[in-house]
Amino acid sequence: MNEQIRVLIALQQKDTEIRRHKEERARLPKLLEQIHGTLRSALATLEEAQRDLERLQQHKRAKERDLEIAADHLRKLKERTREIKTNKEYLAHLAEIEAAQASHKALEDDLLGLMEALEEAPAAVAERKRRFAEEETRLHQEEARIREASAQIEEALRQQEAGRNSAALQADPGALSHYEKLLQRSGGVAVVAIERGSCVGCHMSLPPQSVNAVRAGDRVLTCPQCHRILYWPQEN
Ligand SMILES: [Zn+2]
Repeated sequence: MNEQIRVLIALQQKDTEIRRHKEERARLPKLLEQIHGTLRSALATLEEAQRDLERLQQHKRAKERDLEIAADHLRKLKERTREIKTNKEYLAHLAEIEAAQASHKALEDDLLGLMEALEEAPAAVAERKRRFAEEETRLHQEEARIREASAQIEEALRQQEAGRNSAALQADPGALSHYEKLLQRSGGVAVVAIERGSCVGCHMSLPPQSVNAVRAGDRVLTCPQCHRILYWPQEN
């Protein structure tokens, strides 16, 4: 095989590896952003549960104050009973006491409901807190793994780019510049094999004389359709 083709095949392999690693690297910030998004929404859920609990506690305190006032009012009403002189006054007073008792009872029922809700709420908050802590630990481990993978990719890229640059020194300047232009134009694939008589780059069926010329490997030949550099794979 022509030495320049051999050099270009090696260069293409290195550039493909580099491209794959760069694509992998480009995905990492998105993965990190997803992790942070998951954490933010888990925290929001926890904070909402905490706010619900605080609201319940505030309602309970307000209801307790209302109940005290209602009890005081009722007590004062009852104390006034002995000052009543006429039957008509007495009936009106009794109705007032009944109304006060009813509203006292309603407040008691409300308070009971709040206390029942408050029996469940702290455990629910604690459970969410526990789940959030678990999720946080898991996601921080995941984040550390991603950062480590990122460092490994950076290191691999440094080595691959150094290898690529020394491989490029072995190419003819003309062939290298042709290759690099093709690489840019053709989605990162400039050198392709012939498989079953077709160009692997664009799948065009090649004329037998072109296949034979590429197989002979005397010079650098390109696909008439996609203009990529062709080679005959050794295993064929
Ligand atoms: Zn082609």
